Amino acid sequence: MIIAIDGPAAAGKGTLARRLGERLGFALLDTGLLYRAVGMKCLAAGADPGDETAATAIARDLHTADLDTPGLRGDEAANAASKVAVIPGVRAALLDFQRQFAAYPPGREPGAVLDGRDIGTVVCPGADVKLFVTASAEVRAQRRVKELRERGLDAIYARVLQDMKERDARDSSRAVAPLAPADDAVVLDTSDLDADAVFEAAMRIVTSRNREG
Ligand code: C5P
Repeated sequence: MIIAIDGPAAAGKGTLARRLGERLGFALLDTGLLYRAVGMKCLAAGADPGDETAATAIARDLHTADLDTPGLRGDEAANAASKVAVIPGVRAALLDFQRQFAAYPPGREPGAVLDGRDIGTVVCPGADVKLFVTASAEVRAQRRVKELRERGLDAIYARVLQDMKERDARDSSRAVAPLAPADDAVVLDTSDLDADAVFEAAMRIVTSRNREG
């Protein structure tokens, strides 16, 4: 079984994917980490993340160990990721890895959960369950500020909101694999839901698909 979870930044995709993976015993792939790793490798090499030739070469040479690079979950990596993510060559280079992971989970788990922006539309269009997790930009920025402050980092709400809107705009307007729900995705708006309620709603969808299948 393949579960595809897409949606904008800080909507609750990561938490939901992790909980579904744990409950179902499925392998988990946070596909944003792939783009973040390519973005950070560009910066480390002194290249602009928007440089097509450099970013594509780096994406083609990405190794699993690169996903452990420190700082990958920070905002510098997020911004670099959304710049390399508009480059078609980068997306093509990362596609095979994601599809292999979904079809043949590395620990031979009976299924896989992948979260990102284009899993239900491009990476795994045949996924058994497709969820599109979203929330208002204001709610997402508040969650992000809370998370950063809990990690002891300085965060200014207005700045976080602005960065989030810019990243959403880049992700939604790009020509290749833009952020969008698949036609057959179930949209979960988490603006007024806590993590437990989102998880329960998702489990109900997974269980009903299992019965049908
Ligand atoms: O999900 P996360 O915030 O880690 O993703 C970082 C960036 O990577 C996104 O803003 C997006 O530009 C890019 N991305 C993507 N396709 C995916 C996952 C992430 O374009 N499947």
